[in-house]
Amino acid sequence: MNYKRINNFKEAFEIKINLLVTGINVDLDDTKISFKKKVDALYSHTPYNYDKIPQEIILYHDENTKLPIVCNIRFNKKSPYRVFLKDNILLLKYEDNLYIIEPTRIGNLYDYQFSESIQILGVNLAGIVLSNYCHFVHDNKKCRFCEIDSNCFNVKAKSRVEILKHFKKIKTKKDIKYLSITSGNFNKDYDKMLVFFIDFIKEIKFINKDIKILLSLMPPSDDELLIKLKNVGCDMVAFNIEMLERKRFEKMVPGKNLLGYDLYVEKLKKAKSIFGAGNVYSNFVYGVQSLIKNRGDTFNGKEENDISLKGVKFLLKNGIIPLYTVYHTNGTNEIGDININIEKLINFSLDYGRLVLKSNLVDKDKKGVLFDLGSISNHVYNDAYILNKYYL
Ligand code: SF4
Repeated sequence: MNYKRINNFKEAFEIKINLLVTGINVDLDDTKISFKKKVDALYSHTPYNYDKIPQEIILYHDENTKLPIVCNIRFNKKSPYRVFLKDNILLLKYEDNLYIIEPTRIGNLYDYQFSESIQILGVNLAGIVLSNYCHFVHDNKKCRFCEIDSNCFNVKAKSRVEILKHFKKIKTKKDIKYLSITSGNFNKDYDKMLVFFIDFIKEIKFINKDIKILLSLMPPSDDELLIKLKNVGCDMVAFNIEMLERKRFEKMVPGKNLLGYDLYVEKLKKAKSIFGAGNVYSNFVYGVQSLIKNRGDTFNGKEENDISLKGVKFLLKNGIIPLYTVYHTNGTNEIGDININIEKLINFSLDYGRLVLKSNLVDKDKKGVLFDLGSISNHVYNDAYILNKYYL
């Protein structure tokens, strides 16, 4: 069999979507696969042994941005896609195709583990996870698609001093341009949480004033705090709405629904007025928007795309940039498997990229919708955007 490289951006983009939906099988006995291993993160909850499963693979190098298309490995031993080493070449096999791929060792950054609390999430992105505690899970109000295992909770937020100590090391790594901070819902009082993050980000900016920061959190009740957050140097915020339609928001995300759909949208608009158009993000889960009674077997590809596109247009019209995660499960949530229609997802992603590009909300010089291509390998929105920008 002949090995080949993935030919062009569009082909790599479509393969990535297939890989995110169907997962990837990795030969767990192949101990020679020695690239960046999965690390314990807020949303890492695979029951499999991290040591043997690589975090991600590089599918393609883009000529225009000089950045790679990176795909996260959602391990699935039944997947028709398989990653393995042969003759010291890393290969991705699908049917009769054998693609040459690469491990993620970009600029040596991937060889450097900062700490348990700071991780490298892409070519120029670091991420901080303060706590993996979510009070919704504890209060029986967890999002229906959530797979967080409450047994893995670290109730206490990680030590700020410890994180800052490790963050100082990042300063010396010139490639790190962005920092993503995930708050974790470790306190029911979102205002108190935000006060904490205002101080925290102030300290981070004191160490590195140039780093661009995104904070993902629940909306506070006191809007003045958002002004303070901006004033200490936070560049972007994300309030993740998850469900785009009110009636499904109420059923699917009962914890977030304590605030209510309308207030959530209001807060997004408020954040936009403070941080500016294009600096406020909201993520939704592609795959669950069309479900009836939260049952995975009621997925409807056409309706999924209709709801998702309508939601994308609504957010863009209000100066908010939508993001999306492709639904996946390891069988521990109540929704279970969803037979996502890959063709429909590709079509939606192409439309999404076109709409975001047309909105002009993303800076012309940027190499992605959020951060740059080659980061956050679990998502395809950056790939969809770059594909539209340069190749369609
Ligand atoms: S906000 Fe929802 S998805 Fe996130 S950890 Fe809490 S329950 Fe899970």
